[in-house]
Amino acid sequence: MTRYAGPHAVVIGDPIAHSRSPLIHRYWLKELALTGYYDPLHVVPDDLAGFVTKLRDGVYAGGNVTLPHKETIVCFLDRLDDAAQAIGAVNTLWVEQGTIWGGNTDALGFLANLDAAMPNWQTETQTALVLGAGGAARAVIYGLTTRGVPRIVIANRSLDRATALAESFNGQDSDLITVAMADLSPAAVDADLIINATSLGMIGKPPLDSDLSILSPNTIVNDLVYVPLETDLLTTARAAGCRTVDGLGMLLHQAVPGFERWFGTRPAVTGDLRRHIVAHLGDG
Ligand code: NAP
Repeated sequence: MTRYAGPHAVVIGDPIAHSRSPLIHRYWLKELALTGYYDPLHVVPDDLAGFVTKLRDGVYAGGNVTLPHKETIVCFLDRLDDAAQAIGAVNTLWVEQGTIWGGNTDALGFLANLDAAMPNWQTETQTALVLGAGGAARAVIYGLTTRGVPRIVIANRSLDRATALAESFNGQDSDLITVAMADLSPAAVDADLIINATSLGMIGKPPLDSDLSILSPNTIVNDLVYVPLETDLLTTARAAGCRTVDGLGMLLHQAVPGFERWFGTRPAVTGDLRRHIVAHLGDG
């Protein structure tokens, strides 16, 4: 008899101990009194193909994918959803009648969090400034283009990376402009919505350069960093009169679609869930 009396989902990565996904999914399993399991699984790059075979064999109902596998797993999968195709990375896996799907729920999580925290953000946003050009920035830009934000400025330390990112979204209705982070002038900061999608401000990293202290009080500032929850950027933005959104909500909202696929019930992002995760954010 198998140890698992219900669907078994996992989060794979290398390393994996730091992942907060088990906290979120186990909270929902308990809250909804469902029979199901969600575990961290340490998978090194050489074992990625073997993991996908186990998925194909029905050992797992699906799972989440974190670093360093988000892009490399794509070649082992049968189908990708629209977001994963556009973003070029997968964070959610599920199996449908023998077909292994890879999806990306980061854009959805980013948008759902903004929708919940700032319901009018979309009508207020003519220009969004995205800081960063890595994986998170890509998901954010995809999300912003799906909502038809007219103008998106991408600022990154390496201008080449920002330019390549903007080019990959050519053909969308949004106008994409790139600027080197070092050249970010007050004019460029004239944005209705600013998103920090760099790793600056995370514990162990330097804070974001405070050129952004010239913030307009009408600006909404969303930091994707959630450790710490209150970053220097958010403190500076609030002192300038801006409305702020932290990064934890995106993490919680991006988890919803995977849980629903594996365990059959759509969970809710609630204040209690948020408090539960906040209580454990410092755990490593
Ligand atoms: P990534 O692909 O490694 O990209 C890192 C970005 O940060 C790049 O744009 C990089 O610029 C920039 N950067 C790093 N160090 C810098 C420095 N010293 N000075 C200036 N720029 C620097 O990482 P990612 O996966 O996109 O993640 C970015 C952040 O988003 C992380 O803090 C992550 O925790 C957060 N995140 C949050 C959520 C959520 O659910 N809230 C989801 C995903 C990611 P270069 O291109 O010039 O190297």
